[in-house]
Amino acid sequence: MTTTPGEFELIARMRERWGPLAEGIGDDAAVLTAPRGEQIVVSVDACHEGVHFERAWLSLREIGYRAVTAALSDLAAMAASPRGVLLAIALPPAGSRDLMEIADGVGDAVRAAQTVVIGGNLSAAATLSITTTAVGSAFSPLTRSGARPGNLLYVTGALGGPGAAVDAFKRGDTMSAAVRERFAKPTARIAEARWLAARGVVAAIDVSDGLRQDALHLAAASHVGLAIDWTLVPTIDGLDADRASLSGEEYELLVASPVPLPEAEFAARFGVPLTRIGRLTERPNADSSRVVAPRGHDHFSR
Ligand SMILES: [Mg+2]
Repeated sequence: MTTTPGEFELIARMRERWGPLAEGIGDDAAVLTAPRGEQIVVSVDACHEGVHFERAWLSLREIGYRAVTAALSDLAAMAASPRGVLLAIALPPAGSRDLMEIADGVGDAVRAAQTVVIGGNLSAAATLSITTTAVGSAFSPLTRSGARPGNLLYVTGALGGPGAAVDAFKRGDTMSAAVRERFAKPTARIAEARWLAARGVVAAIDVSDGLRQDALHLAAASHVGLAIDWTLVPTIDGLDADRASLSGEEYELLVASPVPLPEAEFAARFGVPLTRIGRLTERPNADSSRVVAPRGHDHFSR
């Protein structure tokens, strides 16, 4: 562990803020018990200042919230229930007040996902970064490779917000409250994923790189083609569906199902739409090649 001035004091203060959300931490490592018969599902996600966010765009509390929610979204994509998160936070040494705001955002995310902080690491660095390891479990985790030709494709939520927000931030434009909220306060679709898995979904991916890109990831992993009507992609605020399908960091789910899913029941239960946007085909086909051209969100393309 890298030593920063007041490191142990800072950790104690974060624990105090988290209260029961971090009761188990304090040993050299976390101890977890997998529920009987379930498999452990683990994912790590890094969030760097200047790469994934700019401080001017969001409050520190929102930055902390988003970082943890992004990691939890990967568990949702596997239809896993979170068992806890480990955090590696690096920030400039003078940032102790910043850290408490970030900790409050972490607390918001952990509470929203009904999970806990089970460990972490704090170190000094030139810029802020939050790396979250999310640990979960599931009886039968969903993967990207479980889809078959003929499966129906559905997406949760309404897309486009994060892409529009980032564009507006970069241009210094204003944006609607709804667009900003979709960027600043995404939801990891954990309960939604488990509900969908129980109703027949056989493959899933979270929309972190943009719907077009992530649909290609799922199709490639399942060795199938895509037949998607991009005009059906639901958007917020009347945003253009085509642009919305390129919007990254959505943290919605794209799922494949051999049976029709109860869209109205989903919307009533979770307060967000579930929309059928197409289906999977034998590969290769014209549709899958047609969607290759537009690029989604790529961290190395900036
Ligand atoms: Mg993902």
